[in-house]
Amino acid sequence: WALSGRSDERPPLYLHLLPRLHLCDERTRPRHHAEPSARLWRCRLLLERQRVDGGVEHTPCQTIGVMMLKPNVSKNEIVYFVGDITTLAVDAIVNAANCRLLGGGGVDGAIHRAAGRDLLAECRTLGGCETGAAKITKGYRLPARYVIHTVGPVYSGSASDAELLRSCYWNSLDLARAHELHTIAFPAISTGVYGYPKEAAAEIAIVTIREWFDEHPDAGVRVTIVSFSAQDDAIYQNIQRALR
Ligand code: ADP
Repeated sequence: WALSGRSDERPPLYLHLLPRLHLCDERTRPRHHAEPSARLWRCRLLLERQRVDGGVEHTPCQTIGVMMLKPNVSKNEIVYFVGDITTLAVDAIVNAANCRLLGGGGVDGAIHRAAGRDLLAECRTLGGCETGAAKITKGYRLPARYVIHTVGPVYSGSASDAELLRSCYWNSLDLARAHELHTIAFPAISTGVYGYPKEAAAEIAIVTIREWFDEHPDAGVRVTIVSFSAQDDAIYQNIQRALR
């Protein structure tokens, strides 16, 4: 990560790595349409613990200052975040949507509530989405610039479940790349009301993302895997350790 105080760069869309970011009085949140800001960003950063794939641990710290963060765009990596995906100022958050793309419960409902009604209006123009496929909209009032809507399988126990779940991750990453997005956050697709066993789903998520990275070594994508609870995060950490 490069830190710089330059004033002519994009808003800090990569600050999702610093969870619980509070911006001082100059503004409240990055806007998805914002042009590169001509003013310095005065940020009060409250950092919480985060883990980086590979086992590096960052301890909590606190700092106040003016800084811009730039991702290391030559490197693909997975990081883990525990909390609400709608708070992340990444290029795109992924929505575990349903086929109609008209909102619902769980993470889908949270994303629509945070993005506002304009998101639903754009979703209505998309004609739905097949299971395993992905479609993109703007992020509207979210700190994320875009939302990638993907439809996970309803768990049935059949062999196609895993393939469809894998397609969700793969197609979302392909779509992000097609739009030149470099930071993307995934919830645990299908593991809520769609009933996919969490361990199996976590393994598919990590393996698929790693295989996509292998196929696109120069993509420069940072994937944030979001768990809504510490227990769900522990599942990812166990899988990640087992796969290493
Ligand atoms: P699905 O229908 O694909 O199962 P759900 O929204 O029911 O989707 O659940 C998917 C996952 O998203 C679950 O693990 C749930 O705990 C998690 N989740 C729910 N709300 C949020 C949120 N605001 N941020 C991140 N993850 C969330």
